[in-house]
Amino acid sequence: MADTSGKAPEDESMTKLRLTCLCGGVKASFSVPDSALPLSFDICHCQTCRHSSGQLAIQACEIPPQHRSSFSVEGSIAKYDATGKLLRCFCHTCGANVYFEDMDTKDIFFDVGGLEWEGRSDLLKAVQHIYVSDTTDGGMSVWLPDLPAYREHPDHGPEVPLKELIAPKKAPVTSTPSSTAAKEKEYLPCYCRCKAIQFKISRPHEQSRETVAGPYADLLKPFVSTPSLVRQNRDNEPWHLSQPDSTRYTAGLCACNSCRKSSGFDIQSWAYIPLVNLHEAEDDSARPLDINALKKKTNSLLKTHHSSPGKYREFCGRCGATIFWHCDERPGLMDVSIGLMEAPEGARADNWLDIQTGRVSFEEEAVNKKFVGSLKEGLKAWGNGAQG
Ligand SMILES: [Zn+2]
Ligand SMILES: [Zn+2]
Ligand SMILES: [Zn+2]
Repeated sequence: MADTSGKAPEDESMTKLRLTCLCGGVKASFSVPDSALPLSFDICHCQTCRHSSGQLAIQACEIPPQHRSSFSVEGSIAKYDATGKLLRCFCHTCGANVYFEDMDTKDIFFDVGGLEWEGRSDLLKAVQHIYVSDTTDGGMSVWLPDLPAYREHPDHGPEVPLKELIAPKKAPVTSTPSSTAAKEKEYLPCYCRCKAIQFKISRPHEQSRETVAGPYADLLKPFVSTPSLVRQNRDNEPWHLSQPDSTRYTAGLCACNSCRKSSGFDIQSWAYIPLVNLHEAEDDSARPLDINALKKKTNSLLKTHHSSPGKYREFCGRCGATIFWHCDERPGLMDVSIGLMEAPEGARADNWLDIQTGRVSFEEEAVNKKFVGSLKEGLKAWGNGAQG
């Protein structure tokens, strides 16, 4: 007899989904019926999510409320309440964002980067952009133009064509002699949501060019296909500065396993900034940022996770934002999370950053292949001049 009850039959097979962080200190799981897969996730572009994650946008997926009771989590979780509604729950040790908990409804939304795909490809699908109006320039939404977009939450208003939500893409301001002098005094403020971690970025100057950039980032010379001798960059080409005008910094998206597991999201957005261009928020002396001094100043809220030998990831121990990645191999250059930046032109900081559109770093390591694949295609189209 046909089942007309609308409920899953009791003997329907269930899939157990597991979440882990980079350090392995936090493990969570829940079960859903196979018929519920793929689960839908939103791409949230709001100011709070960007600054509390360090990402251009976050991706979070609601556990269907009827299966929420199967959710269990173990390990040392830190919780941050940014808005009085949602608790952001992240690993105390490595900073990975793991899940959100709605304090009123008790709904659970997990951060998709922690999901163990275990060889499957049908677990999740992206469905919509929310809070796009917070970005001014559309942020990451312009690279996924086929998804419906909302000014705020879909409960607050109808779907809006992306181009009505964003300022048109302008050519970056390149230098003229008069603008060059003005630029020397410019700073780009950066901060995490709780503002425990604040710093600023200055425009590239002569010393930025001399910074030992070290081996090329995978973004520019893919690790899998570039001969090691070329990757080493022995001539010290300043690949961290945009070509040809050098008034902006190279930036891009990363899909590597350790970025995914330490941020909690499939995509980490990084800008490559020389230490000589990073400064304490209130310091106008042009002194480079001293990470250890900043740790002291923040009472150790700036926390370091040693992801592997000679490699360091910093995050905010209070709100969970990913802040920096750096390594011993290129001591003068820092990867800085783009979501921390507050540029007047918008979330992507197009007047400061030259976001690379030819590749997503370590795209071969992506697990949510459909999502990262669409993003990669959208980036290319945007780079080739698609409006948005
Ligand atoms: Zn962890
Ligand atoms: Zn913070
Ligand atoms: Zn990475």
